[in-house]
Order: sequence, then structure tokens, then C-alpha cells
Amino acid sequence: MQSTKPHAILLASPGMGHFFPVLELGKRFVTQHDFQVTIFVVATDTSTVQSQLCDLPNPNRFNIVSLPPVDISGLVDQDASIVTKIIVMMRESLPALRSAISAMKPRPTALFADLFGTEALVIADEFEMLKYVFIASNARFLAATIYFPTIDKKLEEEHINEKQPLMIPGCRPVRFQDTLEAFLDPKDQVYVEYLRVGLEIPTGDGILVNTWEDLEPTTLCSMRDTRMLGRVGKVPVYPIGPMVRPVKTSAMEKESSVLEWLDMQPTESVIYVSFGSGGTLSAKQMIELAWGLELSQQRFIWVVRPPMDDDVSGSYFNVSNGSDGTPDYLPDGFLTRNAKMGLVVPMWAQQREILGHTSVGGFLTHCGWNSTLESIVNGVPMIAWPLYAEQKMNATMLTEEIGVAVRPKELPTESIIGREEIEMMVRKIMVDKAIRTRAKQLKHSAQKASSKSGGSSYNSLSQVAKECETSLQGLIANIQG
Ligand code: UDP
Repeated sequence: MQSTKPHAILLASPGMGHFFPVLELGKRFVTQHDFQVTIFVVATDTSTVQSQLCDLPNPNRFNIVSLPPVDISGLVDQDASIVTKIIVMMRESLPALRSAISAMKPRPTALFADLFGTEALVIADEFEMLKYVFIASNARFLAATIYFPTIDKKLEEEHINEKQPLMIPGCRPVRFQDTLEAFLDPKDQVYVEYLRVGLEIPTGDGILVNTWEDLEPTTLCSMRDTRMLGRVGKVPVYPIGPMVRPVKTSAMEKESSVLEWLDMQPTESVIYVSFGSGGTLSAKQMIELAWGLELSQQRFIWVVRPPMDDDVSGSYFNVSNGSDGTPDYLPDGFLTRNAKMGLVVPMWAQQREILGHTSVGGFLTHCGWNSTLESIVNGVPMIAWPLYAEQKMNATMLTEEIGVAVRPKELPTESIIGREEIEMMVRKIMVDKAIRTRAKQLKHSAQKASSKSGGSSYNSLSQVAKECETSLQGLIANIQG
């Protein structure tokens, strides 16, 4: 018997930064549209995934399946980029995904693949399902990703070799120093893979993107205008964000010593410092950051990982491997001197609860899009400290377009940011009223977009849900007819 509610299959690529937004999308389908949802997870720490299960709404409508681990050791170089490794893992997981979907009776209604799962779209075709791509990042990143593979050799050379900006029709140009690493070396596997992803994204029934109309009006507008960017991909773009994990309210979470410490601090007095699920700094930069925080005389919470020279994303696959990050690489006496003013948290913190706490008034962030959105929905201004992936583009957008962040003069990936500059940025972000006001405006804009009474993102997702419902009804009518 065919269910009367759509069954959505969501595919999440490795890494918590990919899993969390997919999980949120799944939750919205369940809570707002009463869908059945199955999330397939690839190579993401199962204990962390399982820990999210207790949080799920309506668990009988929700299923999270970890696909069997794949061995890619013979398929990619040891020193290949993380993106290449992720893409190959996703590719090697396709047979398991295919057989899992084929065993589902009745067949699911739609497949939602994330950025690195676009090769799975063909599986949706095989089972006559609708197919969408969910970009957990922003429209600007999406525009660059789908536009770059369509440019000619001359434009490519101008961007890569002559370091000219990438002129995306109707959008703000992407400066060379902000460009995606994947674009830089045509001989690298990541370049070839990434171009393929860019071409595949607009081949589905729609693209869902984790942004909202009022945050990126110009880019979204040009993606729909067929004279501009729309000519490279004619599928509808649905801005459905911000998709962020809501703050946990269970008693267990509240008992955390970090949150207890925050409870005792004045309103908006603490800066939170974190570089996402895998970002690391060099040993020298750690020392400068430690001094910068101390000299600023502002309260802080700093999620600290052991330094890793020459590898800014070194802890990416290693998040939950225990808290072995003893901060012996910090300046002598740092913890003692800052005992009243700051907390050092090894490896991993409850970020969503911290950013949602009223004592937090600033965020020094690597500008991962989840972290950025978590800051925005809580009205917290930022210091933009981009490290890898699309974070440099995000940092430029946050500082130069949206006006909700400050950033160092040099890129943190190109030079060591000194203690005096850090001290100055921390002070500025904690006291500057204009940036704080802008952050609060943005928080309201995000709330408005998500509102069930006519919010643009709420309506966008409802449109996608409607397409799934219509497709299912067509199928049921066929079976009955
Ligand atoms: N995160 C967290 N605690 C940490 C570090 C990260 O909860 O100590 C979460 C953070 O809240 C966000 C995600 O991990 O939801 C990181 O995603 P983001 O896109 O910001 O960066 P990525 O890790 O993918 O570079």
C-alpha cells in the first residue's frame, strides 16, 4: 500500500559541517510537512550521529542510516585534498545507496543530495524519483560553483594565472585571493571533480540553498535571470535558510560547566573563538591569538586544538577522538593569568548553546557557513578568520557586503596575524555599536524568512514539499488507475 505522505531520501557527505544542515532539512520535512525521511550518512563519526537521534522530532517518521565504510586508500593519493577524499568516498558509497533505495517499498518520492553527492542524482532517475541538490552553503558560493565550469579558457586563465577577479554575471566578482582552492590547479583531481559537481548541480528538479532572499537578494536575483547567471542552469533555486540546529534545552546539556560559567558573566561580554569542526592554526599563530585575547581584556571561550603547521584543516576527520588537546602550546601561565576572564575548551564545544547564550557578544570564526548562520540567528557580530573551502568568500561577504564582521588586514592563511591586531579586532567587535545593531537586524531578517506566516524561506521549502506531494499523488493515481 502506497503511503499518502512523501518519503524523502537525504544524502549527507562526510563531516559534521555537512551532516548538521542535512539533519535540519530532514527535521523540517518531518515537522512542517509530515514527510517520512531517511538520511543516508557517509563516513561520519557514528557516535556523534547517533547522539543526535534523541533530539529528533517524531522519531517514527525519521530514519538515519550510516552507509557501510568504504576503503579509498587505493583510489586517492595520501596527500590528496580533503574535498577529493570526500568525493571519492561518496562515489564508492553509491552502490550501497542504490541497493538500500531499491529495497525500499514503496519507493521513495525524492532524493536530496548535498554538494558532494551529486553523482547520486542518477540513482533518483533509475527509481523515477524527483531529485534535488541541497547546498548547505550560500548563494554566492553556489553561483561561483555552477558558473566556473562554463567559462572559456581565456577567462579561466585570467582568473587563475593573471589573478583577475572571477566576473560572475549579475553578482559581485570573486577576488582571486578569495577563490576556491579547487579552481586553482587544473592538473589536480579536485579541479576535475569540482568542475563536474558544478555542472551536475543544475541538472536536478531544483537547488535548495541555505540562505534567504533578504540576505543575498542580488545573487539570488541573477541566478534566476536567464540573461545573467540563469543561462548556466535553468532549474529553480529555493533559498530555504537559515537551516541551523536549534539550541538544545535538555537538562543534561544545561549542566555543562561552560554554560554554567557563561551564566555568571555579564550580558554580551564574552567572545567565543572557534574554527569549526576541523580548523587548526600554526603553533606561532596560536601564541599570537592567545596574547591577543589576553591583551584585549575581554572575556573569552576558546575551543583549542593542538597546532598543526601547514595544515589548516588537519583535524577534519578526527573530531571526536578524545580530548587529547592539552594546551601546553599556549604561552606560559596563560590559563592561570586568564582564569577569571576566559575558558579554554579542548577540541569541541557546545557551539549552538554557547552562541545562543545571552552572555556571548562576539564570535571569532573561521566563517564556515554553519557557524556563520549560528552567529547570525543569535545576533552575534563576528571576527572573520577564514581558513579553507569557501570561507574566504564568506568572510568578504560578511565584512564588505553585509557589514556584520571585521577581519584582519591580511588573510590568516597567508601570514601570521599579530597579537596587537587581534587585540584591536576583539575590542572593536565587543564594543562597536553599529556592527552589533546590524547583527541584530540580521537576526530579525533570518527570523522573518523562517516564519510560518509568509516567510520567504518557509514558503520556498513548502513549494518543494508541494512538488513532492504532487509527484506522489500522480504515482498513486497511476497505480489506482
Ligand atoms: N561545532 C560545534 N562545536 C565545535 C565546533 C563546531 O558544535 O567545537 C559545530 C558548529 O556549531 C557547526 C559545525 O560544527 O554547526 C561546523 O560547521 P561549519 O560549516 O561552521 O564549519 P566546518 O566544520 O564544516 O568547516
